[in-house]
Amino acid sequence: MMRDHAMDTDHIDCASAMERLFEFLDGELGPELEVRLRAHLEVCSHCFGQAGFERRFLAAVQAAREAERCPDRLRSRVLEALQREGWTGSDTP
Ligand SMILES: [Zn+2]
Repeated sequence: MMRDHAMDTDHIDCASAMERLFEFLDGELGPELEVRLRAHLEVCSHCFGQAGFERRFLAAVQAAREAERCPDRLRSRVLEALQREGWTGSDTP
């Protein structure tokens, strides 16, 4: 009966935000969660930057998918786009 702690619907943490990022970008998050994730991105520059990267990644995949039917060329188009974003594709420095 002492649990009057309000449900914190305004904030999600970075881990949850990252977990749901792809769903968010896919528009598969429920409207409620989408609002919360959006709110988090507005205040968290780390997640905001990550979201921007993922969004461009998905856009690149989409564009390549539409432009190319051949899987090999699709993959190279995506890799190209990612490399333009500074992605190296490996953990080695
Ligand atoms: Zn965050």
